[in-house]
Amino acid sequence: MDMLHELLNRHKQYFFTGETKSYEFRKKQLETLREVIKEYEPEVLVALKEDLHKSEWEAYTTEIGFLLEEIKFTLKHLKEWMSPEKVKSPITHLGSKSMIHQEPYGVTLIIAPWNYPFQLQLVPLVGAIAAGNCAVLKPSELTPAVSAVISKMIREVFPDEYVSVVQGGVETSTELLKQPFDHIFFTGSVPVGKIVMEAAAKQLIPVTLELGGKSPAIVDQDANLKLAAKRILWGKFTNAGQTCVAPDYLYVHSDVKLELLQHMSEALLEFYGEDPLLSDKYSHIVSDKHFERLKSFLTNGDVLIGGQHKESERVISPTIIDNISWDDPVMQEEIFGPILPVLEFTDLNQVVDEVRRRPKPLALYFFSESEEKQDMITSSLSFGGGCMNDTLMHIVTPHLPFGGVGSSGTGSYHGKSSFEAFSHRKSIVKQTTNFDFSFRYPSAKNGLKMIKRIMG
Ligand code: NAD
Repeated sequence: MDMLHELLNRHKQYFFTGETKSYEFRKKQLETLREVIKEYEPEVLVALKEDLHKSEWEAYTTEIGFLLEEIKFTLKHLKEWMSPEKVKSPITHLGSKSMIHQEPYGVTLIIAPWNYPFQLQLVPLVGAIAAGNCAVLKPSELTPAVSAVISKMIREVFPDEYVSVVQGGVETSTELLKQPFDHIFFTGSVPVGKIVMEAAAKQLIPVTLELGGKSPAIVDQDANLKLAAKRILWGKFTNAGQTCVAPDYLYVHSDVKLELLQHMSEALLEFYGEDPLLSDKYSHIVSDKHFERLKSFLTNGDVLIGGQHKESERVISPTIIDNISWDDPVMQEEIFGPILPVLEFTDLNQVVDEVRRRPKPLALYFFSESEEKQDMITSSLSFGGGCMNDTLMHIVTPHLPFGGVGSSGTGSYHGKSSFEAFSHRKSIVKQTTNFDFSFRYPSAKNGLKMIKRIMG
């Protein structure tokens, strides 16, 4: 589409003016973004309710408040992150200075999914602005109310050549991916991540891929079972399981399975009451297609808790299913909904083997009082990030990078990592002209002898 090409050209021309690069400019834009988010908060809450039935509590904690915290942290550290890093120079570089400059990529494309449609579009934007880039935002077509608010809000405060919003589905994304962006930040599923990476590879565009996968929660014999039950269910059923880092399935030691499930049943009652389908603290499923896909999993194994659903509202109660094997459809793909399959083990090494045989998870949660076992899990399994004795908490701190590894993603963000995700580290040697070593030149007498003395 020529229109998108023209849009990108406008962004590039604007970027080349250099306006986006000064500290004052970046700071002002982040402050502007913070103000407009506060101004639009009521509209964002309504839109999140409309698209996902998100409660105000969930919408604020996991989307708006989370985003405002990211802006606050970025504003506090921006100057320090931006300043060129001085590094040592070796003896071969005597008289020179060596620096690493954080250079904005230029114009970045930020593609967002629908599950946290507000913050997953705008938290990366905070990094893009902080690093001095221009950005094109592509929100999800599955959350039209939130996408419309994002578009209106961004238009109100940022000129189109600085930050623009392009709405649309697969076709629009496909066209965007043909454009010569300077960087692509994609959050979404593994299959689409592959499409994005392939399109980027054709033009050698650097990418950050924030993907998904099946993240296990593992509960060992010696865990604090009551806390484990609450924390796993909180992580699983926040946003009705439509969270990239939600525990996808539960692996529990057979000796403590019954006790854990008893605690889980109590915790669910406490969280969502007798009828979660009616709870206004509980999110609904984003689309009919996803609802149907999830409903089909309810016939896998035996439903222990939950299983109720209401099609007209696209809601499925928090569900725990037992008697599951790796061959069941529910274990063949990322669930991304309020269904928790339970597998059991007797030997932790067996769990390590099973997890190792599968794509590297985005998150992993291990519950045990033994530091030794915690260290064993951390060192023997590869995954994006995770928690010991908790779920999700590793992503809600700006001090830890958040991202996957291998099929769960490439690169990371949040806090300083966001700034780094949108920056190129450019190395510069500032050489002295006061003297010149002759031994570096092919004509030097005894040059090789000198070089051998210094090098090696
Ligand atoms: P998705 O991959 O279907 O869509 C994500 C974005 O890509 C949307 O904007 C969509 O319009 C676009 N898109 C869809 N098909 C495309 C195509 N063929 N070509 C180009 N663009 C295309 O993902 P989703 O269903 O919106 O989100 C759910 C997935 O995202 C889950 O797998 C989840 O784990 C993952 N996710 C990851 C993170 C993370 O931070 N790692 C966060 C949230 C969600």
